[in-house]
Amino acid sequence: MTTEPATLIVLGASGDLASRLLLPGLGELLAAEPERQLQLIGAGVEEYDEPAWRDRVRTAFESAGASGEAVDRALESTVYRTTDVTTVDDLRELIALAEHAPALYFALPPAVTVRACEQLREVDLPEGTTLALEKPFGSDAASAADLNRLLLELVPEERIQRVDHFLARATVLNLLGLRFANRTIEPLLSSEHVESIEIVYDEDLALENRARYYDKAGALVDMIQSHLLQVLALLTMEAPGSLSAEEVRDQKAIVLRATRLWRGDPALSSRRGQYGAGRIGDRDLPAYADEPGVHPANATETLAEMTVEVANWRWTGVPILLRSGKAIGTTRKEILITFRPPPRVPDGFSGEVRQDRLRLTFKPDGMAWEINVNGPGDPFTIDPAEIAADFNPGALPAYGEVLSGILAGDPLLSVRGDSAEECWRIVEPVLDAWRRGDVPLETYPAGSAGPDGWSERPIPGVD
Ligand code: NDP
Repeated sequence: MTTEPATLIVLGASGDLASRLLLPGLGELLAAEPERQLQLIGAGVEEYDEPAWRDRVRTAFESAGASGEAVDRALESTVYRTTDVTTVDDLRELIALAEHAPALYFALPPAVTVRACEQLREVDLPEGTTLALEKPFGSDAASAADLNRLLLELVPEERIQRVDHFLARATVLNLLGLRFANRTIEPLLSSEHVESIEIVYDEDLALENRARYYDKAGALVDMIQSHLLQVLALLTMEAPGSLSAEEVRDQKAIVLRATRLWRGDPALSSRRGQYGAGRIGDRDLPAYADEPGVHPANATETLAEMTVEVANWRWTGVPILLRSGKAIGTTRKEILITFRPPPRVPDGFSGEVRQDRLRLTFKPDGMAWEINVNGPGDPFTIDPAEIAADFNPGALPAYGEVLSGILAGDPLLSVRGDSAEECWRIVEPVLDAWRRGDVPLETYPAGSAGPDGWSERPIPGVD
């Protein structure tokens, strides 16, 4: 990636995302690239004098253990402007501070981002300006399309970065190397050999004071619509000719367009749950509905599951289960590919012949190919074995990688506008069915594996 001098303007610099993820990620990027010249401009409604702002940035950099020449230079030169991003004059003054074509990072509530973009129509943006937006991109397919139209009035598509930090995680990046730089894996990835796929991100974290956002979003939008469908796209797409943003994102868009709810029936292919009071490790957790800021009437799901199908020649008939939950006792963060049984195992073998499985895990980032081999004692007794590998973590954590792409103007690891709309289209039948109450909201104790009976039900489409 190029490390040309760059300007990053963080709008909403005093917010949670900026201090917890964005500025630490930036610190790590600067630490990894000591030659990098970065002008960092913070903007927000809060009033900071320069020393207070610098302290804030320094604290964020230190939280990431970031140090070095580029870190020091960015700290010395960083400035902060109290800005109402919904007023043209404030935005104009802010952008005039940029020494290079700026990357405007909207670390703002989504509605404020839209208002800021509307005001930017009146601003003469410097050639090469990049706009970086955080999820959620709209609140349904129609509003995502409206947002896309608005953004395209400001800059061309390749200058819009819809951030999905999942795309910069080692396990997700490794889907490219694992699939397209090996002879042996890729030919097996089709309905001929694969019985089912699970893409699961269950975490033991609960609400963590994010009710303002989460109670409106819920697990389906927060995780499946935003992140797991992107993982699905990289897992099921055809091989791109190159790793250019254009080719990779073309291939992702093609499979997302072919993705639909399993058998088109939300009652069959989706489930939702909400955690009640419980305990995880030594933490007692209140019920979600009793968390500060939660409106129980919203009936927000903290566990969402939906099964889809990529309806094309390669994948038709393979159920792909997407699931994510909060306050789950046994955290499970993985992509699990279960292969069909072998056509026949010769008579004479004993022991259990399990279906082969390829498991790609997050934290630790790695893979394990679960296969059968001849056992140790009696050679004709089948025994399970594993071929395992760690995925290299890469030089940068996910937000550092995201920022590197933004500053280089390379949108490879960001979500293209058409794909953002497709991801809404895919989940909308489920959201509608849930709103109508067609699928019950079940409860599970915090710290459990989910509602009673869930783990026993097979994946839709698997006998
Ligand atoms: P916060 O509410 O913590 O921060 C938003 C920031 O924007 C605040 O500093 C707020 O200032 C500022 N702001 C609001 N209105 C204006 C305005 N008119 N002019 C200037 N600044 C304004 O939100 P988050 O940081 O949590 O989220 C930001 C975005 O990132 C959202 O789109 C969210 O969905 C997304 N996101 C957040 C994640 C997280 O972990 N926090 C994870 C992934 C995505 P003030 O507080 O003074 O109003």
